[in-house]
Amino acid sequence: MVKKLLIGAVALIAAGAAVAYFQRHEITLAMVEKVASKRMQDPLAALSDGLHIGLCGTGSPFPDPDRAAPCTLVIAGKNMFLFDAGSAAAKQIATMGFSTGQLKGVFITHFHSDHIDGLGEVLMTRWAQHTEGQKLTVHGPSGIAQVMNGFETAYTQDTGYRTAHHGAATMPPELAGADVNEFTVQKGSYTAVLQQPDLLIEAFAVNHQPINPAVGYRISYKGRTVVLSGDTTSDAQVKDAARNADLLVHEALSPELVARLQDTAINNNRSKLAKIFSDIPNYHATPLDVAVLAQEAEVGHVVLSHIVPPLPLPPLREIFLGKAPDVFKGPFRIGEDGDFISLPTGSKEVIYDRR
Ligand SMILES: [Zn+2]
Ligand SMILES: [Zn+2]
Repeated sequence: MVKKLLIGAVALIAAGAAVAYFQRHEITLAMVEKVASKRMQDPLAALSDGLHIGLCGTGSPFPDPDRAAPCTLVIAGKNMFLFDAGSAAAKQIATMGFSTGQLKGVFITHFHSDHIDGLGEVLMTRWAQHTEGQKLTVHGPSGIAQVMNGFETAYTQDTGYRTAHHGAATMPPELAGADVNEFTVQKGSYTAVLQQPDLLIEAFAVNHQPINPAVGYRISYKGRTVVLSGDTTSDAQVKDAARNADLLVHEALSPELVARLQDTAINNNRSKLAKIFSDIPNYHATPLDVAVLAQEAEVGHVVLSHIVPPLPLPPLREIFLGKAPDVFKGPFRIGEDGDFISLPTGSKEVIYDRR
C-alpha cells in the first residue's frame, strides 16, 4: 500500500516536472511579466513616512565587483533625491527597485570623477522616465555649472535623437538635462540648499584638500536627521553637523590595507600606482577616525561608505574596521550596495533592510 502510494507520488512529481519542462517558455514569460509589473508600481507609495537612505553605491574609484561608485538615495516622505552619481548610478537605482524618473533633485559633493561619472545616464533616464513635467535640478558647490555644461554638450546629439524618435510629447526637449543650482559654502557655516515645510537639506564644507570645494550634506525631515560626509578627512565641521544625528553615513579608508597595496605596487615596479596609493590616505578618514568623531558627536548609528580599498575576503572587513566598533558605542557598520535604512517619523527607530 505504502509502496503503491510512493510510486504514485513519484509519478505525479515526474508528470508535473514534464509539464513544467514543456511549458518552460510560458512559465518564464509569465514570471517576467509579474516581475516587470511589480517594478512598474510606484515604489515610494509603499514606504512609511520618514527618511529612507538607499546605498546604491558604496565603492570608490577602485574596481570592485561588490561595490558601485558613490551613489546614495535619500527619500524624505515622497521626495526622492540622489547624492553623488558615480558610474552605474542609474542602473543601481533601478536594481534597488526605484526609478530615476522620480528624482526630485541630485546633489553633488565634489567633482572627483567617481562622484559624477554616472551623471549623464542619470539625466538621460530621468528624462525618459519622468512623467510629471518638471525639469530635474542638479545642486552642487561652485563648479557644478561647468560640469553640467560639459554633460549637456556631450548629450546634445542623443537628446535630439530621442525627441526625433519618440516625439516631443514623450521626450520634451525643454525637460532634457537639468537646471543647475550652484551654491557657495563657507567653512564653519551651513548653506541651506533646499528648504520645504518639513525638509531641510544643508551643505557644509569638508576637508578633502586639495579638492576645493568639497561638501557634505545634512538632511532633516520631520525630526529625523541623516548626515552624509562626502569625501573628507576626520573634520570638525562633519562632527558639528552630525551632532545628535540619527545616522551618519561617512566615507572610510584603511591606511593599513592601502599601504599593503602600495608595497605590492613598488614590488611590481608600478611606481605611478605606488605614488597614488601613497597620496590617497591623506584626504580620507579611517574607520577609527569616524568612530571617534561619531562617539564625540553622540550620533545614533554609523554606516561606512566609499570603502577604500575593496574588501573581497571576510577577514579583510575585520582588518578594515580595526578597533573602530569598540570605540563607537552604537551600531557601527560597513555599508553594502543594496542596503536600505529607514528612519520613520515620530520615533527613534533605525530599521535596516536590503533591496
Ligand atoms: Zn571619492
Ligand atoms: Zn574625492
